[in-house]
Amino acid sequence: MAQTCSFCGRSKDEVDILISGLNADICNHCIDQSYEIVKEEYKSRAKANQPELTLLKPLEIKQFLDQYVIGQDEAKKTLSVAVYNHYKRLMQKENNPKEEVIIEKSNIMLVGHTGTGKTYLAKSLAKILDVPFSIVDATVLTQAGYVGEDVESILSRLLQAADYDVAAAERGIIYIDEIDKIARKSDNPSITRDVSGEGVQQAMLKLLEGTVVNVPPQGGRKHPDQKMIQVNTDNILFICGGAFSGIEQHIASRMNTQPLGFVGKNKQVKSIDKNNLLRYVSAQDIRTFGLIPELIGRLPVLSYLDPLNGEALKNILIKPKNALTKQYTKLFEMEDIKFSVDEEALDYIVEKALEYELGARGLRSICEAIMIDIMFDVPSQEVDEFTLTKEYAQEKFEKANLVNIG
Ligand code: ADP
Repeated sequence: MAQTCSFCGRSKDEVDILISGLNADICNHCIDQSYEIVKEEYKSRAKANQPELTLLKPLEIKQFLDQYVIGQDEAKKTLSVAVYNHYKRLMQKENNPKEEVIIEKSNIMLVGHTGTGKTYLAKSLAKILDVPFSIVDATVLTQAGYVGEDVESILSRLLQAADYDVAAAERGIIYIDEIDKIARKSDNPSITRDVSGEGVQQAMLKLLEGTVVNVPPQGGRKHPDQKMIQVNTDNILFICGGAFSGIEQHIASRMNTQPLGFVGKNKQVKSIDKNNLLRYVSAQDIRTFGLIPELIGRLPVLSYLDPLNGEALKNILIKPKNALTKQYTKLFEMEDIKFSVDEEALDYIVEKALEYELGARGLRSICEAIMIDIMFDVPSQEVDEFTLTKEYAQEKFEKANLVNIG
């Protein structure tokens, strides 16, 4: 009897391949079809098994951040509320897709000097979130057609963080660092095109607002024969951070030239904190700095980070869960050596960090410079204890060549 497919009944001549089993045969058409059915089934099972979002309250999120990041209460509060609302928004979409009151996405802009903890806040936040999270740097982005990376590559990182699970990536959070570096260069004459400034801002608009984007899976520059992955950015929360160096001048001049009504409404204006003008930052200042209004409009939540004073820097050295001194203690512990730091040594390190004006970023380089010799020596010596004194710190720091600190 002529062999036929047991599923569709086609004869061997009518198909390309007919595979025989124990009591049945199957043709290539039926294999293809079965494969599609299995794929769909797996997909819907995976969707059903997707973990429920755990809704952490803003206070809980802030308390978690407090374990790592010193100070910066305003920024922590803003982030906690934004993330909480982001989750609620996701839940609304999943549980109540027909709801009339749509919670809008509130992307965030963080302004703060370098080394005050913008990226660190974002990284710490990532630890408690059960949505994919990625950090990207705006400085590598350029307008399509120029050397650099396409704006869409921002999403490639998120896809990577989500293990290419598109549905998971579509509810993730992206931190875009150094957003101020894509400010419009006002002194740039129109003959040289502003390929890394306004062009990039324009390209970013759609992404921030919510649209379906073709993403090159590996990032970088798109090219024609590359397979693209479609990602909908509707539910992706964007947090942008930048130092906006020099923005204080804009803030100061705006505050001095405020119409009288402002003074009347806001009595505190008399006691302006001149050492921390960033706390008065407004969308208008960001616009004067060179971000286009459309982009600012898509980052409606604006917050700031305080400059770190001596006390904050000292706390950063000792208090956070993974404080630098705790890290050294751990390193020495592994060699069975007890490590401690004198109070005066801490003050000295802080003093130097303030001198270099690099915020907490300087602390690490200073500590490394001071500790390199002892870290080199002790593993091959019989020592049980090491105390870092001010004298030792000073001697090593002055000897070190700290040209490239930071
Ligand atoms: P930036 O504001 O320039 O993004 P970072 O977040 O990269 O600064 O800070 C550099 C490093 O300094 C961080 O990795 C962290 O170790 C430390 N740091 C900065 N600010 C704080 C802070 N407020 N609390 C604790 N550590 C901080």
